[in-house]
Amino acid sequence: MTRQDICELNIDELKAALTEMGEPAFRAAQVYDWLHVKNVTGFDQMSNLPAALRTKLADNYRITVMDAAETFVSQIDGTRKYVFVLWDGNAIEAVLMRYKHGNSVCISSQVGCRMGCRFCASTLDGCVRNLTAAEMLAEVYRIGTDIGERISNVVIMGSGEPLDNYDEVVRFLRMITDEKGLNISARNITLSTCGLTEKIRQLAAEGLPVTLALSLHAPSQEKREEIMPVAKAYPLEEVLNACRYYYHKTKRRLSFEYSVVKGVNDTRENAVALAALLNKSGFGDGTGDREKASGSKAAKAAGRNGHTMTGGREGICHVNLIPVNPIEERDFQSPDRRTVEDFKHILMQNGINATIRREMGRDISSACGQLRRRYFKNAGPGSD
Ligand code: SAH
Repeated sequence: MTRQDICELNIDELKAALTEMGEPAFRAAQVYDWLHVKNVTGFDQMSNLPAALRTKLADNYRITVMDAAETFVSQIDGTRKYVFVLWDGNAIEAVLMRYKHGNSVCISSQVGCRMGCRFCASTLDGCVRNLTAAEMLAEVYRIGTDIGERISNVVIMGSGEPLDNYDEVVRFLRMITDEKGLNISARNITLSTCGLTEKIRQLAAEGLPVTLALSLHAPSQEKREEIMPVAKAYPLEEVLNACRYYYHKTKRRLSFEYSVVKGVNDTRENAVALAALLNKSGFGDGTGDREKASGSKAAKAAGRNGHTMTGGREGICHVNLIPVNPIEERDFQSPDRRTVEDFKHILMQNGINATIRREMGRDISSACGQLRRRYFKNAGPGSD
């Protein structure tokens, strides 16, 4: 693996590389288009390039291609889950979700994860390595090619902590939003983080207005530390300050993820405390009952203009309740539906937007990181 990965080069770097090879400037646009729009898997497919150049490129570079070791397709909603094997034998997961508004791909940013969240399967064996920008792009390209349709949304919510792989993730974001590439709008991209404060602030200044999703999972510092060891290094108040800063810089409404775990963070008191925390920290709409607000005609009309009748301003966050997906290695359980619905109502009554995450691909369901573990157990190298 000594040849450089050509997909890692942005358009300017590609221009420089081709110029150095003695090629005219327009070749860079052609090669970039083959790689990042047409998503070819070999230099021999670049049919408008002279054969000599194709050979020269193949001698000097390689193209990252995702090899799907396993694909699971939901018969219910068309969700597809992939286990991709990387060039070094590592495996990662990615998921395609089909929505009315388009095709959304959930990608991994690292092989494993070192954050240690208690209910998450990705972190059980720690972080093996970072993914490169080219590998993250290849996750999206491979799925787009597989279904033969445009990918309109990307969520960085698979295995790994994206802000723990900051440089490659930012490179990925710049390239996937590049108008000369797939040209996915930053507004259609969500990056999910467990809350690395300085990195959230750094991302806010990149001029890449992606939606930030914070894995909150608890209404207090104490409870958060119980579930997420990383919380010890990043106090909740500072994390929320960084999120507010992110909002002010990008004007993108924040998403707070809350995995609801039976007997751990699912009580009415937890919901009240969560609403109070978010209101106190300036994320709520100030005063209102969002259920009443969205129910009345006047509120609906006002909502269209971007205001609610409740406090005169929209809240700047949205809470996404995720009934925990149990993993074998831990005894966390999901609460019953009623408990999760109550939790949501309490948030709404206290001026906090909330939804319960719709479960996609129920028939092929698996928690984050579990498919990869299963793959190594059953079919991966070393198994018999
Ligand atoms: N490192 C990033 C991305 C992780 S996965 C982050 O922490 O946000 C995306 C979301 O799924 C996170 O909110 C994560 O906490 C949550 N998650 C992981 N395993 C889960 C499980 N078994 N059940 C429910 N949510 C889970």
